Amino acid sequence: MGEVTDLLVIGGGINGAGIARDAAGRGLSVTLVEQGDLACATSSGSSKLIHGGLRYLEQYEFKLVREALQEREVLLRLAPHLIRPLLFVLPHDASMRPMWMIRAGLWLYDHLGGPITLPRSKPIGFPHMEFSAGLKPEYRSGFVYSDCRVDDSRLTLANALAARDKGATILTRTRFDAARRVEGEWEATITPRSGPSTRLRAKALVNAAGPWVCEALERIQGDRITDRVRLVKGSHVIVPKVHSQRHAYILQNPDKRVVFVIPYENEFTLIGTTDVAVGTVEEGTRITPEEIRYLVAAANRFLMKPLAESDVVSTYAAVRPLYDDGSANPSEVTRDYVLKVDHDAFKAPLLTVFGGKITTYRRLAEDALKLLENYFPEATGPWTANEALPGGEVRNFNAFRDDMQERYAGLGRNFVDGVVRRHGSHAPRVLGEAKVPEALGRHFGAGLTEREVEYLVAEEWAETAEDVLWRRTKCGLHMTAAEHNAVAEFLRKPGESA
Ligand SMILES: Cc1cc2nc3c(=O)[nH]c(=O)nc-3n(C[C@H](O)[C@H](O)[C@H](O)COP(=O)(O)OP(=O)(O)OC[C@H]3O[C@@H](n4cnc5c(N)ncnc54)[C@H](O)[C@@H]3O)c2cc1C
Repeated sequence: MGEVTDLLVIGGGINGAGIARDAAGRGLSVTLVEQGDLACATSSGSSKLIHGGLRYLEQYEFKLVREALQEREVLLRLAPHLIRPLLFVLPHDASMRPMWMIRAGLWLYDHLGGPITLPRSKPIGFPHMEFSAGLKPEYRSGFVYSDCRVDDSRLTLANALAARDKGATILTRTRFDAARRVEGEWEATITPRSGPSTRLRAKALVNAAGPWVCEALERIQGDRITDRVRLVKGSHVIVPKVHSQRHAYILQNPDKRVVFVIPYENEFTLIGTTDVAVGTVEEGTRITPEEIRYLVAAANRFLMKPLAESDVVSTYAAVRPLYDDGSANPSEVTRDYVLKVDHDAFKAPLLTVFGGKITTYRRLAEDALKLLENYFPEATGPWTANEALPGGEVRNFNAFRDDMQERYAGLGRNFVDGVVRRHGSHAPRVLGEAKVPEALGRHFGAGLTEREVEYLVAEEWAETAEDVLWRRTKCGLHMTAAEHNAVAEFLRKPGESA
């Protein structure tokens, strides 16, 4: 059956990719299997925030908030091209949580994680030149505080790239089918979409299958893990931008939930999210008309120019794989992660990931490796806090972007900005010595060129138009149906039907 890999990771979402990167960097041999594309499930359907989670303070999740705030600082250093500071404005009126409570919560938010480089929170009066843009005039005051936004699917990809650079094998479109313990090791069956099943042996198995975590457990013989996940759907709508400034709003809803209104992709606003308990992952893949109504109404409570449901240009929905802590209300189920290890006479460990946030994935991976360290005494120690992710190897991102603008002046500012945002310090690998747009081949629209599509296929596991238009880039949002089709046509392999 060939070689034995140290770690077989099931799932190419943020948690699987993060664990693969960490383990490979400690000298372990790693194989990761992802049944679809990297980040094709929850890790591309988030609110795209690296945040402490202000609202979790109300649920007394101080440990989660503290760790998430600390991670915000770490991740800003590791991937400045994918993670950017974002100011949030919280409008206030008498019907909401009292001012003193918000002020205290924000003070805690500023200090709980230790030293921060982002601006601290402050109260503001409206009207304000910048911070009340688009708001109804009856809102007279509020607060501003800091968090960060992230390109969630590219952050996942960056972790997979780093894992590969350190020797890991990343197999996309390859399903994990089953595993059993044989002579103190795991024997697993995996099936690539394009070929027959194969078997491989691993010393340890990591179940990072996200919403499918329990389904994967059912395919693993002899495990004694009885914990469960709560599947809670969250949806977002995208509308043309609702104000001209760069900040986001955090809006308090009468049901005590908060809804984010986030500037998105220059021309749009992202509004989310919802909390809807679902029975299966499949039930959670589409937004319902009620959720659209809820999100539009939540925004309209605050916006001067009301949105209509017909303003919605795009939507997405994803399922949170939350650890089942017994809470009755889906909004109150813990967002913290829980890791469980099962082993057989101290051999063939199975590590299972429940819950987690994009924000805390690196800490989760470190904790996972800590739990596995007795099984791999040769592995080296924690390292991921101090090495930039691929593309993030720049000291000062704004200075780097300016250099790129100068070097590629003939390609146009917006175009260069898009490529630099996606690829960071790897942008020259995409653009080469191009001096004029024509040197990059066909232009599909929205700054996506033939050269970049070829790069995404060769270097980043992209295969389909969806991989390219919605996960490796967000160009799909800016393109017409005809332009989408042109990309699909370009990627179609000989003999493949339309
Ligand atoms: C609406 C919403 C908003 C959110 N907002 C935020 C936010 O702003 N900030 C934040 O920090 N977090 C946020 N989160 C949480 C965060 O997105 C998730 O915790 C995180 O993405 C989970 O990652 P994962 O790797 O565990 O799961 P996933 O990303 O779902 O990855 C699991 C992968 O396993 C694969 N898989 C499953 N079964 C198999 C198999 N048999 N063989 C091979 N592969 C398999 C799947 O295809 C999938 O790609 C949000 C979540 C939701 C739903």
